[in-house]
Amino acid sequence: MTLSTYFMEATYLVASILFIFALKGMSHPETARRGMFLAEAGMFAAIVGTLIGTHIITWVWIIAGLSLGSIIGAWMAISVPMTAMPQRTALSHAFGALAAALVGVGEFFVHAGDMPGITRGALGFEVILGALTTTGSLIAAGKLQGVIHGKPIQFKGQNAVNLIVFLTMASCFVIFCMHPEASGVFYTMLGVAFLFGVMLVIPIGSADMPVVMSLLNSYAGLAAAATGFVLGNNVLIIAGTLDGFSGFILSVLMCKAMNRSITNVLFGGFGAVIAEATTETGGVMREITIDDAAMQLAFANRVVFVPGYGLATAQAQHAVRELAELLEDRGVTVKYAIHPVAGRMPGHMNVLLAEANVPYSALYEMEQINPEFPSTDVAIVIGANDVVNPDARDNPKSLIAGMPILEVDRAKSVIVLKRGQGRGFSGLENPLFFKSCTSMLYGDAKSSLSHLAQAVMHV
Ligand code: NAP
Repeated sequence: MTLSTYFMEATYLVASILFIFALKGMSHPETARRGMFLAEAGMFAAIVGTLIGTHIITWVWIIAGLSLGSIIGAWMAISVPMTAMPQRTALSHAFGALAAALVGVGEFFVHAGDMPGITRGALGFEVILGALTTTGSLIAAGKLQGVIHGKPIQFKGQNAVNLIVFLTMASCFVIFCMHPEASGVFYTMLGVAFLFGVMLVIPIGSADMPVVMSLLNSYAGLAAAATGFVLGNNVLIIAGTLDGFSGFILSVLMCKAMNRSITNVLFGGFGAVIAEATTETGGVMREITIDDAAMQLAFANRVVFVPGYGLATAQAQHAVRELAELLEDRGVTVKYAIHPVAGRMPGHMNVLLAEANVPYSALYEMEQINPEFPSTDVAIVIGANDVVNPDARDNPKSLIAGMPILEVDRAKSVIVLKRGQGRGFSGLENPLFFKSCTSMLYGDAKSSLSHLAQAVMHV
């Protein structure tokens, strides 16, 4: 081994350790930012190590790729709003997976016939997972952005067609492993894998897209790990495996939070039929004025804020903290209830509230806060809907039956901030809004919160 190879392996070791600490950091909101910096440092170390330890034939393509990637990355970081983060993440997965697939094609091109059997297998996996993750992630991004219809796209005989596509891909993989020089088979496998990614994601509704994305993230990680085996690159094997398994664990946790199974998400066509199995409400939605709502809040002992997707679209995180501080100055105990799938991505509410410097100690997870609702004077729901829908708990026929919810309906009084009669992501009506303890404060969440803060100051 040359000195530069030693250096490369040392930076790979450092990068791998940084990745592991990064994951640990990201497991808690308080340390998540540090976790991201560690991951960035790890990636930087891995890139520098590779550039120094590898025999570079020409720098032209490397500099061109680095510049183009940096420009696109910087543009996405600056211009994509927080609410569009899920589709931005889907695009990143698509790029990462495409890179893995292209490296696989490159390796095939250079070494086709002279690869050991195990490397051929890894190459096949890399190309299949990379290709299907690329198209699957692009479809996911399109659905989340609304460029493609968000409803599940289903047709008669879909499962049979998918099975045929899958078997064709698997057969190509087996034949490729036995005849690595057969380029026709290799490129057919690549093409069918691209098609399979599309077929896999179109029958899934956009409500389930975040789970699908974290599954695709896991596939992209496994594709990177397979690339590591093909290239004999340790840091790719380690980082890819970490990515693959953390993505899978995240998918399982999200499914658990929605009381769904992975198979139900992948094959259930959730959202295809908006079954009106909603509890008969019978009542009317009662509106409340800013002044009356401010009065309730100002004279309450305990107030719980319940943020949801509407808080993110309204960018009301600073307004909510300002109102909370005003109430605390008056001696009110204020807490924030965080549902694991509130918003559109895991940790969405934590990220938003952290941005507004809401102290972590004021954030309560669902299991912690639910027993406190009966002793809560006012639960103020800010742009949340599905995560506070009591039908999930009370109505076994509901589409979201069994999904754990924040039990705001057990509070003494509930004030819901939303713009109008819009439904939640599941498309279901919410009986909470018709309950006698609930009153509706219509308007954009940010402006409602600002008006409430002004009114509280004058109470
Ligand atoms: P939600 O059910 O999507 O409801 C959001 C509500 O916010 C809507 O009813 C809307 O009503 C209101 N709204 C929108 N813009 C607003 C604004 N500017 N000001 C005030 N209100 C506004 O949100 P959620 O309760 O957070 O539930 C999240 C949903 O996403 C769940 O169904 C969950 O399963 C799904 N999901 C989330 C994840 C995740 O990782 N977080 C993953 C998979 C699925 P109006 O139109 O009337 O204003």
